[in-house]
Amino acid sequence: IKTQAYHSMLGAHYTLHDCTAGYTHLTDEERAATRVLVTAGFRGATGAEMDELPNLALICCVGTGYEGIDVQAALARGIRVSHGAGVNAGAVADHAMALLLSAVRAIPHQDRLTRSGAWNYTETPRPLVSRKKMGIFGMGGIGAALARRAAAFDIEVSYHSRTPKTDLPYAYVASLRELAEASDYLVACVPGGPSTQHAVNAEVLEALGPKGYFFNVGRGSVVDTAALIAALQSGTIKGAGLDVFETEPDVPAELCALENVVLTPHMAGNAPEVQEMAADLIRENITAFNEGRALVSPVPEMRALTPAI
Ligand code: NDP
Repeated sequence: IKTQAYHSMLGAHYTLHDCTAGYTHLTDEERAATRVLVTAGFRGATGAEMDELPNLALICCVGTGYEGIDVQAALARGIRVSHGAGVNAGAVADHAMALLLSAVRAIPHQDRLTRSGAWNYTETPRPLVSRKKMGIFGMGGIGAALARRAAAFDIEVSYHSRTPKTDLPYAYVASLRELAEASDYLVACVPGGPSTQHAVNAEVLEALGPKGYFFNVGRGSVVDTAALIAALQSGTIKGAGLDVFETEPDVPAELCALENVVLTPHMAGNAPEVQEMAADLIRENITAFNEGRALVSPVPEMRALTPAI
């Protein structure tokens, strides 16, 4: 990973090689001596990349999402995999609320007008943020943290995930389309991958309706981008706030041209406090591995493995 903060936090304890662009710059000795790979979910590691490091024993993903890591390839090679379970849930939930407030109250647009000297506080009054209904797609760490924040805004929460959460007070909705239909705000907090690919499609956006807003802090692949652009252009939905994109780091020009979207560069989970927690968790996993103990935050596929590796 490129992020300088991780290089300095982990570099104080281990010998680091920057392999963002590959492994060809490493000598044979350096490859053989490399035991741990630290990566990000959207970058990941393929089986072929794992084979570049013959003694690789542990892959640590900095964040929660690890869809870019071929976990089955790792496990088949006896390589353990950890992830940053829960480290950035609060940061992502904060950011989802920031996108929501920005989009509904048109903060970026009003900021531009005010800076330009156009003092126009009566221009199209913006709706209340509060006293609305939020549908959360994915009630995991991020979804639950977002629900708590939404409740403080007097927003009624319901959700859709694979399984109902009996320990949470929010209404479970069996299908995403029905969730969209019942919501003013639909927020995607699910992982990427085949099971969620384009789950938010034209039908779901149609169900959200002309007063509805869509927010995505999960993964870009969760939404059919062409359908989203069409829905935003035609007024099928009112607006959107997006932190993740199917083609990131490229953002479609059609989205950039729209006034009714707020865009941020996949930064929701990134904060200095989060980087520190993630680096600490990576160190705890490496220490556990070195001492022959179970990993502190293995990916679920590893937890399910018998016999354990
Ligand atoms: P969790 O694993 O805690 O929760 C994921 C939730 O998604 C669970 O409720 C799960 O359902 C649900 N889910 C998964 N697949 C499906 C599916 N096919 N249909 C319906 N629901 C599904 O993850 P987090 O909340 O910590 O993070 C969620 C995702 O957010 C990450 O995987 C990552 O992709 C993204 N993320 C984005 C960041 C950013 O900067 N924008 C930063 C961090 C994460 P169930 O509970 O029933 O299993």
